[in-house]
Amino acid sequence: MDFDVSEEMSVRLEMIREFMDREVIPLEGEMLHGDAGRLQVLVAEAQGKVKQMGLWAPNHPVEFGGLGLSMVDHGLFAEAVGRSPLGMTVFGTQAPDAGNVEILHKYGTVEQKDQWLRPLVDGEIRSCFSMTEPETAGSNPLLLETTAVSDGDDYVINGQKWFTSSADGAAFAIVMAVTNPEAPPHQRSSMIIVPTDTPGFELVRNVSVMGHAGSGHASHGEVAYQSCRVPKTNLLGSEGGGFVIAQDRLGPGRIHHCMRWLGIAGRAFEMMCERANQRTIDATGATLADRQVIQHWAAELEAEIRSARLLTLHGAWSIDQYGAKAARDEISAIKFVVANTMLKAVDTAIQVHGALGVTDDTVLAYWYRHERAARIYYGADEVHKTSLGRRILRRYAS
Ligand SMILES: Cc1cc2nc3c(=O)[nH]c(=O)nc-3n(C[C@H](O)[C@H](O)[C@H](O)COP(=O)(O)OP(=O)(O)OC[C@H]3O[C@@H](n4cnc5c(N)ncnc54)[C@H](O)[C@@H]3O)c2cc1C
Repeated sequence: MDFDVSEEMSVRLEMIREFMDREVIPLEGEMLHGDAGRLQVLVAEAQGKVKQMGLWAPNHPVEFGGLGLSMVDHGLFAEAVGRSPLGMTVFGTQAPDAGNVEILHKYGTVEQKDQWLRPLVDGEIRSCFSMTEPETAGSNPLLLETTAVSDGDDYVINGQKWFTSSADGAAFAIVMAVTNPEAPPHQRSSMIIVPTDTPGFELVRNVSVMGHAGSGHASHGEVAYQSCRVPKTNLLGSEGGGFVIAQDRLGPGRIHHCMRWLGIAGRAFEMMCERANQRTIDATGATLADRQVIQHWAAELEAEIRSARLLTLHGAWSIDQYGAKAARDEISAIKFVVANTMLKAVDTAIQVHGALGVTDDTVLAYWYRHERAARIYYGADEVHKTSLGRRILRRYAS
């Protein structure tokens, strides 16, 4: 096992870390309590600098301007840019576009790649992924009710979706819908590209989450598909292949998310340690860092973050060596381990900051609101524990 990166990748990571500290983290004030329009201008300026440095969208395939990173490299990149909520956007690798890029690259036709993939990678358009429905359990996509009925050369889509993240302002959605209701459960659904200006595509609302409905990329749309007609040439992959594509999209995506969360955990931990050293708590000049309880929190968190990081890097390394299927156990384990470690780091950092921790004067409260969902999306904790536990126990059955 070897997590070493090439000399070239080390240099890139150093450049990214330095750029994050100098150019991206200082924009957080504008994001937390500034002006959305001005933030957009500042983010666009930072994106221009990233392009000049040759680091734009490095996770994308080489033929689309990316750097063709290995899974370990990709993970280390996600960790470095995950240190700020703005990092992924500034580097052109934000969800849900990054996942859509992967499946368009793997399953898209030449025409689909020209029309949708290229402008997506170039940052000219945004996209969304429309699988989850309010009325069916998202944890089990075999229950999907949205239908895409064949009608001549078209599909006609009907159904209700929600948590179609970033639908607001997106150019197209990749929709998962039932095309073959009579087929075996795993072959009933397909992925279909739906331009958002298609009649019958309606963004009903941006769902308010933790007090904020958000807008644009930072939003979660409820979308109604009402007799939404698209040509069959918009089918992604094969008819009935939706479940396989969804698995493909979610598997490696968990590594990226987990490494991004480790970027968050690392920064929250640093903020906690800095605050503990600065905050005087009695007349002798003792600081919070002098108190044993804070020392224990620092020790536990350091050990937990390191363990979670090694587990995730091992998952990434296993994918590089043996493919995503061979890394199934690691992928399930990191999803719940890292999500909980990151949330514990953010919560503990807030506790050490006291009242300041729940204000928007630091980024901690933003993460507390926005990252709670980490235990739910890309497979809830319980779903991963069940499938991992079942696989482990089966090995001892004979
Ligand atoms: C911030 C955010 C962004 C998202 N973005 C997108 C997106 O862009 N596109 C998209 O399609 N979807 C998106 N989702 C939806 C996400 O994929 C679903 O929320 C997830 O799959 C869970 O489905 P559900 O919410 O219907 O919960 P349910 O399936 O109803 O599950 C509820 C809870 O029940 C428990 N549970 C479920 N199944 C089991 C089981 N088998 N055993 C034991 N316990 C179980 C878990 O604790 C789970 O949290 C997003 C969600 C969030 C919160």
